[in-house]
Amino acid sequence: MMPGKMTVRPVLQRAAFASTLGAVGFFLNLYPIPLFANLQLILGNMVILLCASRLGLPWVLWTAALAVTGLHLTWDVSIAYLIFGLEAVCLALLRKRGWYLLYADIVYWIFFGMPITAIAIFQWVDLPQEYGWFTIWKQGFNGVLYSAFASLLLMGIPKGWLKRIRQQPVLVRTFRQKQVHAMVALLSVTLMVMLLAHNRQLMATQKVMHYAQLSAVGKGAARQLEDYLERHKGALMLAGRWFSHSGEDAQADLAALHRSYPGFASLFITDSEGQVLGASPPRRLAAYRSINVSAWPDFKAVMATSKPYLSDVIRDRVFGRAPIVTVSAPRFSEAGEVVGTVEGALDLSALNQQLAQQLPFEWVLQDKTGRIVVASASLGLAPLSRPGWSTLRPVELGDPSLIRLESAFGTFTDYLRHQRELESGWTLNLVVPYLPLVKQAESQFGVGTAVMVVALLLAVALAAHQSRYLTLPLEVLAKDVEQPEAERRPLRRLPQGSAREILQLQKQMAIHRSALWAHQDELEAQVMARTEELAEANRKLAILASRDGLTGAYNRRYFVENFESIRQWCIRGDHALLMVMLDIDHFKQVNDTYGHLVGDECLQRLVALMQAQFGRHNDLLSRFGGEEFVLLLPGLGERDARNLLATLVSTVAEQPMATTSTGQPLTITVSLGAVLAPASFSPTLADWLSEADRCLYRAKQEGRNRMIFKSLTPSLTRS
Ligand code: GH3
Ligand code: MG
Ligand code: MG
Repeated sequence: MMPGKMTVRPVLQRAAFASTLGAVGFFLNLYPIPLFANLQLILGNMVILLCASRLGLPWVLWTAALAVTGLHLTWDVSIAYLIFGLEAVCLALLRKRGWYLLYADIVYWIFFGMPITAIAIFQWVDLPQEYGWFTIWKQGFNGVLYSAFASLLLMGIPKGWLKRIRQQPVLVRTFRQKQVHAMVALLSVTLMVMLLAHNRQLMATQKVMHYAQLSAVGKGAARQLEDYLERHKGALMLAGRWFSHSGEDAQADLAALHRSYPGFASLFITDSEGQVLGASPPRRLAAYRSINVSAWPDFKAVMATSKPYLSDVIRDRVFGRAPIVTVSAPRFSEAGEVVGTVEGALDLSALNQQLAQQLPFEWVLQDKTGRIVVASASLGLAPLSRPGWSTLRPVELGDPSLIRLESAFGTFTDYLRHQRELESGWTLNLVVPYLPLVKQAESQFGVGTAVMVVALLLAVALAAHQSRYLTLPLEVLAKDVEQPEAERRPLRRLPQGSAREILQLQKQMAIHRSALWAHQDELEAQVMARTEELAEANRKLAILASRDGLTGAYNRRYFVENFESIRQWCIRGDHALLMVMLDIDHFKQVNDTYGHLVGDECLQRLVALMQAQFGRHNDLLSRFGGEEFVLLLPGLGERDARNLLATLVSTVAEQPMATTSTGQPLTITVSLGAVLAPASFSPTLADWLSEADRCLYRAKQEGRNRMIFKSLTPSLTRS
């Protein structure tokens, strides 16, 4: 190994990969995408799928733990660890079994994710009940959305990516499976994002409309409220000037004033010491007579400032401690000194009725301290209390006006709120319930989801159907390729509607096949020709190997090899075997005198002569040495043998065997030794040869040009 090259161990690489994914998921989950109300999209969990596509369960769990921690910091919901941890387990295990992650996640959310979320929400999370079901459903929706996103991402990632650290199996899918999966992923993402965008748009539009309406109505209502208060303040200011006299006629004047301003529940006047001088309605006078109001803050404020004063909402100090708001004004003497006050309690129920007539929305009117002066009855809010509302998470960018209001009965309701401050420091709140909007969004989601499911089913069917145009013709082509070459069947017909590429492929296949077949035929013909040539060569070789080159007689090797089979043939047929050894006389002299070529011619002619004479089946002539021949002649009787051989000797001696350079015919003589014996005489060739050789020797001794014949056949023994 090269010393400089460090190889990082796969376990470290896996840790780095899983942790990086986890960190990305962590940060993505810190910033969920707000939808509406408390609903948010979490896309960080995509990393769980990305990890599960390559690594095994422990790493997937680690990635999930990191990503979910980001979510935990945002939501502060520990159950998320359970829900998404189980998701990680489900994904890793099903992927290992060959599932597509998208399908695995859909199955998870239907059978585990949504049921667990339902239990968790209804057990532990105090959400308005109306949102509950939607939140559960939205969790599943969200799960499918991020898994579809992750699946699309994974399709774009090369298959060989992270090969070294891979733990999940590489799967070979059919075209149809791939097609359906891609279609489902793409459609899910597209339809879901469109649905979300459309929904968000709807909510935004609705809100803008509501705010516009709220603020327009609020503006008018605020002005009227201000007028109302000013009118009542102004009335008391005027009264303060009328009632400047000491007050003997106070009762009558108050009654007249009260008739003109029925918005007051009651009216009374005091002197500068806070002693009540008169009251309306008159039945209240007795109660007021006994009290001194010098300690009341409104009296003190008016005396100190000589200006009218509007109190916060308080409890009536005299009658039944009902909630009231008082308007007070100074009373002036003719000299312009403050000689007392005139005060009135505003009739809150009348005020409420007036607002009810004006406003198409629900309202809460608060005093400077924030306590409720009046509120629409349906809100269930008690006057004097402070409204228990909490501002919800801003759902539209920077918009804080979605509030959750707790009624006196302890129920929570969400509202869109418009606030307007009055000159008096009071606040008019107009609220419109949020739930109808949510319901609208929900029904839109419901319809959208139904459309999506139908679209997905159609897409799956369509993808499956479309893939047939590729897979069916491919199967046909595959069969054609598999078919044994020898059969040479024509290519099968492709199914109707096969893709053009396939048709082209088949056309090419047909061209290649006929080229291949032509080539094969040519090759076979060539092989046959070559085989024939080879056989011919072999035949020639065999001849060459067994014959003598000069004369064409068999060579000595051939003779030795075939002697035994001829002898056996004689044994089977009970034939005698004649072995003849023949030698040309004084051949050296022929060579010396006429030259070697003439000698060669003699050898050739002699062989031709002998071959003509001894051509029967199993007759064997062999050139044994230079001018020495052996004749093996089976199946001859002694008489025939003697005659034939004698004829041979005499024929040779008579016929010229060559022509000399001077044109003279040249005759030669031969000597031969023959032995005739039963084939069983000896199995050894040497025995036969030496018998014949002995005879030849004798023939040479006795003067050449003759034959010495020896018969070893018992019945015919003759010397
Ligand atoms: P003998 O009668 O005792 O057999 O006398 P010879 O001269 O025939 O005997 P020898 O064995 O001494 O001579 C054989 C001669 O045959 C020697 C050689 O020159 C000749 N000879 C052997 N093979 C060939 C051949 O292929 N061609 C020719 N032209 N001559 C050959
Ligand atoms: Mg010789
Ligand atoms: Mg010789």
